[in-house]
Amino acid sequence: MKKSLKFLAILVLFGTILVGCSNKKESSSSENYELKDITFPLEEKVTLKFMTQSSPLAPSDPNEKLIFKRLEEQTGVHIEWQNYTREAFGEKRNLALASGELPDAIFDAGFSNYDLLKYSKDGSIIPVEDLIDNYMPNFKKVLEQRPEYRSYITAPDGHIYSFPWIEELGHGIERIQVIGGLPWINVEWLNNLGLEMPTDYEELKEVLMAFKTQDPNGNGQPDEIPMGTIINGWDQDPAIILGSIGLGDNGDHTIVTEEGKVLFTAMQEGYKEQIKYLNELYELGLIDEEAFEQDWNTFISKGDRYGLYFTWDKANVSGMNDKFDVLPPLEGPTGERIIVQQNGGVGFDRGRMVITSANKNLELTAKWIDQLYEPIQSVQNNWGTYGDTTQQNIFELDEEKGMLKHMPLEGTAPVELREKTNVAGPLAILEEYYGTVTTKPDDAAWRLDLLKEYIVPYIKNENYYPHVYYSLEEIEELTRIETDLYDFVNRKRAEWIRNGKIDEEWDEYLQQLDKLKIDTWLQLKQEVYERTVN
Ligand code: CA
Repeated sequence: MKKSLKFLAILVLFGTILVGCSNKKESSSSENYELKDITFPLEEKVTLKFMTQSSPLAPSDPNEKLIFKRLEEQTGVHIEWQNYTREAFGEKRNLALASGELPDAIFDAGFSNYDLLKYSKDGSIIPVEDLIDNYMPNFKKVLEQRPEYRSYITAPDGHIYSFPWIEELGHGIERIQVIGGLPWINVEWLNNLGLEMPTDYEELKEVLMAFKTQDPNGNGQPDEIPMGTIINGWDQDPAIILGSIGLGDNGDHTIVTEEGKVLFTAMQEGYKEQIKYLNELYELGLIDEEAFEQDWNTFISKGDRYGLYFTWDKANVSGMNDKFDVLPPLEGPTGERIIVQQNGGVGFDRGRMVITSANKNLELTAKWIDQLYEPIQSVQNNWGTYGDTTQQNIFELDEEKGMLKHMPLEGTAPVELREKTNVAGPLAILEEYYGTVTTKPDDAAWRLDLLKEYIVPYIKNENYYPHVYYSLEEIEELTRIETDLYDFVNRKRAEWIRNGKIDEEWDEYLQQLDKLKIDTWLQLKQEVYERTVN
């Protein structure tokens, strides 16, 4: 009886749609199932309609992935996916948002700070903080364990519009992203020439000089490139070894002092000394001639000719062998060895999933999303699963401990296997899950060990600029200022490394920073920082 009434209601509704808009196809969102006080699995299967994107390596129907098959079984919720490859997704997503043909939610939504504010303002996506409070115990627990994430996902208007992706590998100054590129030095060449590991800037210069002039690779050719780098190229820039000079530097030239003051490094006195050192190396012919314009492929093609170079993982440049090792922090003029952090917190993506205003099943959707924040589910969604009889598995399940263990990769690239089998989306992996819910991926564990030995002990200042949430007005103001500011600062930096003259041009440079509104920029960054951490 109940069923036939419902059927009738749908017919009436369908009729209305037909009358109202005769060209309209099937709705891109689900009907209202009127489900309340939901527990999984549902007694009768229902369907939600999500839009998403995936890797070209993954099956085009996400439901073919074992993780989603299991999730459908556990919940009784069938997801009808509108899936696009990463390349096509952005345009399709924006088109749907512009036309109002909205799915129930967007999974792997790729929403930036700006997108979230724009589409919440026009009513395409809805605030979710009440859903979190009422229906999402797993996610709520994550936010209780790490209150900083609540502040990273709370918009300046006080609402939360999205579900984030959180991947902690290490925490605080031990997090895997505490710095970007590591300095990799050619220890084979050090050995060949009978040289010690350099410990200060003068010694490094001498070592690089020896690499240049003493044929450390023994082929009789002067083909060595003492320092391989991409100037202003983030992980490939030499800033990481300059921490002991002045206040040091990082990719966006921004640090937060121990007192919580935001500073622009590229206008500090010590900045001049860093540039002068790099200029000296350049004039001695120790820095790659191509350091100022090369792309990634050119950079890595010379990997075995470098004496020292900078990048996240040496495997990408000189291979996973013992030829290169980390150069320990150098002693500066004050006798200290210091590493400056990069900004940004842990692995964090604010806009991983959004619920649209077309969604008529909010409790159901929230409870489904909350499953993704269950620890053992999050781990699989991020990296892949276990027990797949049709292909290679990332994990095996230790049923006794209820814990996932990484399996040997047997030559498969970790990224490739992850992309084939994981589902990504909103999830949270906290540091304390390692050893209880899952083992750590080998590539991450390797880097974390290196950081612990060579980097973490030398970080003297624990503050950094976190994942703040700007307002639309702030984004506009920052964009206006930053485009010209960074363009100018990085252009001058490259010029000075090549041509010197920083002392002569310094006052004029500071005046130009003034004109580019560095004061407004600093004030804005300071305000937003304080709003985020307090
Ligand atoms: Ca040579």
